[in-house]
Amino acid sequence: MPAPMRRLVVLGATGSVGRSTLDVAARHPQRLQVFALTAARDADGLLELCRLHKPSIAVLVDEAAALKLRAALTAEEIPCEVLTGAAALSEVAAAGEADIVMSAIVGAAGLLPTLAAVRAGKQTLIANKEPLVMAGRLLMREAARSGACILPIDSEHNAIFQCLPPDYRCGESPRGVRKLLLTASGGPFREWSAEQIAAATPAEAVRHPNWSMGQKISVDSATLMNKGLELIEASMLYGVDDTQLDVVIHPESVIHSLVEYVDGSLLAQLGQPDMRVPIAHALAWPERWESGVGGLDLAALGRFRFESPDLERFPCLGLARAALRAGGHAPNLLNAANEIAVERFLNGHIGLSQIAQMIAACVDAGLGVHALQSDELEATLAVDAWARDWCLRELPRFSKTATLHAESARLHA
Ligand code: NAD
Ligand code: MG
Repeated sequence: MPAPMRRLVVLGATGSVGRSTLDVAARHPQRLQVFALTAARDADGLLELCRLHKPSIAVLVDEAAALKLRAALTAEEIPCEVLTGAAALSEVAAAGEADIVMSAIVGAAGLLPTLAAVRAGKQTLIANKEPLVMAGRLLMREAARSGACILPIDSEHNAIFQCLPPDYRCGESPRGVRKLLLTASGGPFREWSAEQIAAATPAEAVRHPNWSMGQKISVDSATLMNKGLELIEASMLYGVDDTQLDVVIHPESVIHSLVEYVDGSLLAQLGQPDMRVPIAHALAWPERWESGVGGLDLAALGRFRFESPDLERFPCLGLARAALRAGGHAPNLLNAANEIAVERFLNGHIGLSQIAQMIAACVDAGLGVHALQSDELEATLAVDAWARDWCLRELPRFSKTATLHAESARLHA
């Protein structure tokens, strides 16, 4: 019997993960049909993807961009319904016609559509890590309730999934596991001094040595907050606490993560640093499909290096681990503050070192106010909004000029 055709929704289709997903999907037209594609406001980018992948529905959150896309599709006689507004993201994620949803929006904006997919029982492929950091327990609880199968796309979490027993499902506690070991490239500033890191520009921060990614995750990789968010993500997906999670720097980005079992065995997944590998794994699961990516020439690679992360130069990693330990809304506060801080860094308002300072202060302030909030959706969104307001209100304290004044006062004291 031929394998059934499955219908795919790509949330965040114009982004780095979204485009890699469509690259893999297009290699398997007999198995996958694109049902819906979404983006924030990039009408030209989404038009190009509609020409290639012929979705039934295209969503642009921005209304003017949606009008432009609708006009262009009509002019080219491409049959595709265009929807607009943030609610349309959740609508397509939960639509009866959808079988698989790729969650690849960046940041907290992906929470509601990801939750909608999970609640509707869709096979949900999660690249968008921020919703798991904000509301991981809620998402896993809803998946258990609806029967939605969650498959991790983040390369480390996908590697871990591949190293767990074949009958393992996300949300269960894995049997016989001592530790999950996340690898990290170390980012563009791995060998930089604290002073150099403090003076780093946005252009330097987004220049990742091994991976080509969106701007926000590239800055997160430079501060190691990406690995911090991934610790929390792993805790939510695999039901382990922080004592069972370790990070090791592996500059080659070839070993994507490892599982250490109680008998002392360590299993690892290796591959080129190309997101099409984890994406193809999850789209095909439990089968295996061609992804367009070759294997590795191990002899040419020669050797692998490993180092401990330096928490002095990269305080964000320590802040994330502390938030994971604190539990409650600490990860949610951390995530919201990080999103604001990264945006302000990219806009040139604060320096790279102020990102950690702003996050630490916001989590501290927020825990005082929100310690007893429930982890349901409404409270999650309220805490997220509180943290964003707090950061914007307190921004002048962390601005470049405020920091220069403080530094010069310290030197003259
Ligand atoms: P990106 O910036 O390249 O793309 C983001 C996508 O989300 C775009 O399609 C954009 O239009 C859409 N989007 C942005 N804001 C939106 C909003 N408010 N509402 C609706 N849509 C919105 O990002 P990316 O690098 O592809 O990363 C996507 C997610 O996957 C992130 O959470 C990131 O941490 C995670 N991830 C990325 C990679 C990678 O290699 N890029 C690897 C692992 C995990
Ligand atoms: Mg990752």
